[in-house]
Amino acid sequence: MSGRVRAVAPAKINLTLHVTGQRADGYHLLDSLVVFTEAGDGLTLADGPGLSLDLTGPAAPALAVEPDNLVLRAARAVGATRAAFTLEKRLPVASGMGGGSSDAAAALKLLAGRGFPPPDTAGLMRLGADLPVCMAAPAPSRMTGLGEGVAPVAGVPALWLLLVNPGQALSTPAVFKALNQRDNPPMPEVLPGWSDAPALAEWLRDMRNDLEPPATALMPGIGDLLAALRAQPGCLLARMTGSGATCFGIFATEGAAQDAARALAAPGRFVLPTRSLPSVR
Ligand code: ATP
Repeated sequence: MSGRVRAVAPAKINLTLHVTGQRADGYHLLDSLVVFTEAGDGLTLADGPGLSLDLTGPAAPALAVEPDNLVLRAARAVGATRAAFTLEKRLPVASGMGGGSSDAAAALKLLAGRGFPPPDTAGLMRLGADLPVCMAAPAPSRMTGLGEGVAPVAGVPALWLLLVNPGQALSTPAVFKALNQRDNPPMPEVLPGWSDAPALAEWLRDMRNDLEPPATALMPGIGDLLAALRAQPGCLLARMTGSGATCFGIFATEGAAQDAARALAAPGRFVLPTRSLPSVR
């Protein structure tokens, strides 16, 4: 290996998250439209005498470095033994934005450039159910099954987003456990393609995040956050991403997203205006 390389590990946003069934082994079947943002964690890879990880950034104190960090697990999965990673952790941990999976996918992509091919889908799933979709980032994708099904989605426009996390972690298993209805309808088989952000937001109104009700039952502040987002001028839609607690608003303009960010800023809250990346036509 030689030289220092860097990648952004973008936030993963589930514009929809339909829980369509549960397998006998307890795992849930999903149908989700996923986009990725310009903003995210930053990961740097340099040569090292061994495998190491330095953590920096505002969300670093929430993470234990060794040895379970997904960056190191990903490196071990492809047999890399001489790699020095620095992770600038900006995305809150356990926040529904798939930060850990995105970090691991970024590590795998950097290592692929150094001659370590990424694992197959089964190997990715052993690292985490969001790994396959994060490997497809920043392309918008439809994620199905337990997460192993990933298909590119055409016609997704760029979106001005405001991401808001109340500053409390929410455990994914706890949210699934609190879910009452496990066999909800999937999205339409054929996704329509959307002319612009308002058209996508309009279509999303008929879709859902099925984890929003159980997450809100566990953390009522999520309901308040969604109401606050919806009350902001220019907010076209507000929803929770993943298993929460991060909520996103889709805004008509960059200015509206920035104004809402200022209005919703509060101590302990993570508030980030950003843009999601569109399908490549
Ligand atoms: P998802 O939306 O995929 O459920 P999430 O955003 O809710 O993900 P993550 O931030 O990915 O959750 O963290 C999930 C768990 O993974 C945490 O409990 C954390 O300790 C562990 N973890 C290991 N490595 C990382 C990493 N690099 N970044 C964040 N979490 C990590």
